[in-house]
Parts: sequence; C-alpha cells; structure tokens
Amino acid sequence: KSVITDKDPEFSNMVSYYYHKSAQIMEKSLVKEMDKYLDFKPEEKQARVSAILNLIGSVCTTLEVNFPVIRKDGTYEIVTGYRAHHVRNRLPLKGGIRFAMDVDEHEVKALAAIMTFKCACVNLPFGGSKGGIRIDPKKYTTRELQTITRRYTMELLKRNMIGPGIDVPAPDVNTSPREMSWILDQYIKTFGHKDINATAIVTGKPVHIGGINGRFAATGRGVWKTGDVFLQDKQWMDLIGLNTGWEDKKVIVQGFGNVGSFAAKFVHDAGAKVIGIQEFDYSLTNNDGIDINDLMQYLADKKTLKGYPKAKESTENLLTAECDILMPCATQKVITSENAKDIKAKLILEGANGPTTPAGEKILLDKKVLIVPDLYCNAGGVTVSYFEYLKNINHVTYGKMTSKRSSQLIHEVINSINESLNCQIEEIPLVKPNKSLQAIRDCTTEANIVDAA
Ligand code: GLU
Repeated sequence: KSVITDKDPEFSNMVSYYYHKSAQIMEKSLVKEMDKYLDFKPEEKQARVSAILNLIGSVCTTLEVNFPVIRKDGTYEIVTGYRAHHVRNRLPLKGGIRFAMDVDEHEVKALAAIMTFKCACVNLPFGGSKGGIRIDPKKYTTRELQTITRRYTMELLKRNMIGPGIDVPAPDVNTSPREMSWILDQYIKTFGHKDINATAIVTGKPVHIGGINGRFAATGRGVWKTGDVFLQDKQWMDLIGLNTGWEDKKVIVQGFGNVGSFAAKFVHDAGAKVIGIQEFDYSLTNNDGIDINDLMQYLADKKTLKGYPKAKESTENLLTAECDILMPCATQKVITSENAKDIKAKLILEGANGPTTPAGEKILLDKKVLIVPDLYCNAGGVTVSYFEYLKNINHVTYGKMTSKRSSQLIHEVINSINESLNCQIEEIPLVKPNKSLQAIRDCTTEANIVDAA
C-alpha cells in the first residue's frame, strides 16, 4: 500500500502513503509486542496486527454539516463545515478548527490522522481529529463569523461530535482564541453549568476564561525549540554542512500567521537572520535580517505586511531562494516534486502540517537535506493544549499569582463591595502559602510548562 504512482498525490493519499510506509516498518515489531500480552497463535497475531494497522489507516467518522447564515445585507448563504474523528479508541480526540476555502472532507480526514500520529509522537493521550468551515473569513464581519462559529458548534454538539471527554477543538489556520471563546460560550449557553468540566470543551482559549499562558505562541516556539535540538548537535550539523547554533543562520519563513510569526520571532531572538518572509499574497526580503518583533508590531498596527519600510517587497518564489533554513509554516503540499530540486536550504523545519509530498521528500533526502517533520516540529501547540486541558479538568490554576497580588485583588474587591453596598465586610488576612506549595506553584509557571513542551 505504500507504493504511490502519482508524483504529488492528493493530500489524504499522501498522508495515507506516509502512514502505510511506517506501518510496514512497524508490523513485525508489533507482532512481537503481542507476545508480551496475549497468547495467540502466530497466524492469529498477524491477523490482529493487520486489522489494527488497517483500522488506524482509516478515518472512523467524518461529519459534513450545511447550514444557512443570514449575511449583514439580509441575504442567505449556505455554509459548509466538517469535523473528522480519526480513531475513537483514544479519547478525547484533539485537533484544530480551520476557516479556509480549501477545507473539504478529504482535507479534514487527512489532518485528523496527522493529529493522531502527532499526539502519539510526543506521547499525549489524545486521538486525532480536525474540523473546518469552508469560508474565506476575510469576507465576513466579526458578527457574521461569530454566528457561523456558534451554529457550527451547535451542529457538532447535537451529534455528540465535541465535548470535554469526546473531542476538544483548538485554533488552526485562520482561527484564534476569539473563536474558541465563542465555542465555549455556546457550550455553556446550551448546557448551563451542568458540566463541571465545561471549560475543557476547547483549548487555545483566552487566558482569562481558562486558557493557559504560552499557548498562543506555543506552536511557533516548538518549531524553534525542535530545530534547536538539531542545530546544537554537531554530528547532525556536520552531516548537512552547517555550523552549530542559530547565530547568523539565514532563515526563510513561508506563512506569517500564528505559527510562522512566532517561529520567526523565536529563531530571530536566538540570533538567526530572518532574510525572507513569504505570505500567500506578499513577500518581504532583507539580506541583513528582518527584526521580527518590529514586524509583528507593524502587522498588529497595520493589519498587513504590505508597506513595511525596513524590508523590500519581493516577487521571487522565496521557497527556492538562497538560505540555510526553510520553515514552511502555512499549509500542506508546498514542497513538491516540482520545486524540491531547487530548494537551497539544508535544514527544513515543518511548522505546517504535511508541507512536503513524498516525491518532494525523496528529492530532499537524496540531496542530504535534514527535515524536522511536522509530527514533532509543530507539536508544541497541542502539547501546551494538553496542559490547558489538564488545568481545566483538574480545576487548578498554573498562574504566577503571588500572594501579594492576590491579597491586593481581594482588598480591591472587598473595598468595592463595601462602597457600593455601603457596608463593612471585614478583610481576613491571607495565609501565606507554605514552602512546598510555593515550589509546586513555581514549577508550573509559564516558562516551565513551555519548556516541558
Ligand atoms: N491546530 C494545532 C495543530 O495542528 C493544535 C491542535 C490542538 O491544540 O489541539 O496541531
């Protein structure tokens, strides 16, 4: 099954190809593994292993929903959304929701499978899922997007497709903490506060409603951190002919959304020179390196990269431009049989899911290019999602809430109650946390969580 005839197959066939390729490698050791637990006859063992591998090779459920939305101008539009569950024997499932025009059944299925493999790769106890709505979010007002997100949430809830113990969405392409807060609110509105674990319905939420510090930047931080593992290793670097460390490495990033912008920021902060940024409609270059913190501020203010004064606009395809490190951080299938031979980078950090086709990968490996694969390279996001999920279901905070800050907050609240009700509630002094409690609090601060990721 791992033989493909098409050079750059359709995305779901590509994921299936990679899966069957590794399944072939795994098969023998899985049969052996069975010996440890079960006393089956040899042919029975083989049959069971094949059945398990085939099961993991397919997607268990895919839901397509179509619903009407009233646009701002009063017209109606039918919007299509999807949610795919890859394997349901590892609950809850975990995976993002994207808003994009190329979302379809095949895409969400392939991405759901990737999520299972990604979670297994970094040892998170989740199965994989993925969802999406086929819209171009730029063409909708915030209010319309909110209506669409809430209706999509209802469609999934009605069919038991999401829930804190079933399937827990998160942000993905073109979605953010804002969309997650709409989903959470819709869930609470629907079920009231009956579900004590309601906040665990989504991860990647705003911090003040149960999110976790560091989640927003986590995928990008993971891209830098996983790249760092290889860049600090002399043996790996000798193999591809680069010096160790980030200092002065020329980096090109494709995609400047949540993943690409933070990946670029962290490699820039580590000393690399980000010499090119390629977005779907605009590219920037500066051979002396772009100050990514400055560019992120520009993007936040102007809502576009266009016109950034400290870099040049480029019309060149930056994927194949001269650089040491390439970070594809947008969508799937960008490195293909067509362009792989022209890629100059020696190290590729796959921030996106499935950016390299099998034929593209073969060309790169033949050229001795080192590829840090998506399953590991972009797993920082879902890893911090796991900490957020744990925080929600355990009803704990991992904050840096010092006892001084909490007494100050209590003081403010009591004062305002006393003022508005014209009464005199007495303030009880806070007990200082003892040393061991403080130590637990310290080791669960943002930096530690992200480092663990
Ligand atoms: N959408 C992200 C991914 O593809 C994060 C998923 C999550 O946090 O559940 O890995």
